[in-house]
Amino acid sequence: MLNTSAKCLFNLSILKSLLPLILILLCFPSNAATYRVAIVIDDMGYRHTDKQALSLPGDITYAVLPHTTYGKILAEQANKENHDVLLHIPMESENKKELGPGALTSEMNRQAVSNSLTASLAEIPFAIGINNHMGSYLTQLYQPMTWTMDFLKKHNLLFLDSKTTAKSKAEQAAIDVGVPVQRRHIFLDNQLTESYLRQQFSQLVSFAQQHESAIAIAHPHPETIAMLTKLIPTLQSHNIKLVPLSSLYPQTTIAHKAPALSHNKVTDVAANKALAVN
Ligand SMILES: [Zn+2]
Repeated sequence: MLNTSAKCLFNLSILKSLLPLILILLCFPSNAATYRVAIVIDDMGYRHTDKQALSLPGDITYAVLPHTTYGKILAEQANKENHDVLLHIPMESENKKELGPGALTSEMNRQAVSNSLTASLAEIPFAIGINNHMGSYLTQLYQPMTWTMDFLKKHNLLFLDSKTTAKSKAEQAAIDVGVPVQRRHIFLDNQLTESYLRQQFSQLVSFAQQHESAIAIAHPHPETIAMLTKLIPTLQSHNIKLVPLSSLYPQTTIAHKAPALSHNKVTDVAANKALAVN
C-alpha cells in the first residue's frame, strides 16, 4: 500500500506527463468548421446594382430571375466565378402580385409549365436547380408542383423551397417525384435596418449550430450587401463554414454543371461592359 504522500507524488507525476497533451487540447480546440450555412441571394436580374451582390465574400449562391435585363449577364458572371446559380422562378402568390416573365400560375397546364421552364433553363443552362420567387399560392397546389418536379427530375435539377407559405406542398411533391429538395430556414432581410439584419444573422448562426446546417435567403439590397460583407467573415468564429447550396444536398443526386461553358470572349466583353455600368 502506498502511503498518502507517495500517492500524491504518483498523481502529480501522472499529471505532469499529461500536461503537454492538456496544453495542446486547450490551445488548439477543434477548429474544423462543424456547421454549414448556405446563403442564397434571390431576385438577381432587374437592377444594375444587383451586380454588387457578386462581390460578397465566399461561396454565395445566386438565384436569378429569368428573362430580366441583367439576369443572364449576372448569372454568367457568377457561374464563371464558380458560384452555384439557381433559376429563381416566379410563381403565383396569394395576393396576386405581378410576377414578371417566366412565371408559373395555376392557369397553366402541364405543357405550359414545361414550356415556360424550358425557356428559362435555355437562358441559364448551367443552373443547378430552381427556387420559387413568391409562390405563396402556387406552391400550395400539389399538381402544378408535381409538373414542376417532373421537369426538374428530367433535367437533373434540384429544388429549394423558398417557403413563402408554411402550407407549401412543393417539398412533398419533390420527394414524391424523386427530386433533391431542401427548404429555406431564415429570411435575412425582410427589413433593412442594421438591428434587424444583425438579429436575423444571429438567428442563422444559432439555427446552424442547433441543426448542423442552415439555408438563408437574402436579396441584393445595398443595406443587405453592406451588412453581409461585414458579417460573413464572422461565421468562422462560430465554427461555421459558408458553403454552396448544392453541398447541402446528397451529392450523388446533383448533376455537375461544367462551369461557364457557354462563355466566349464576345459574351465576356459584353458582360463586363454591362456590369461596369453605374
Ligand atoms: Zn424572389
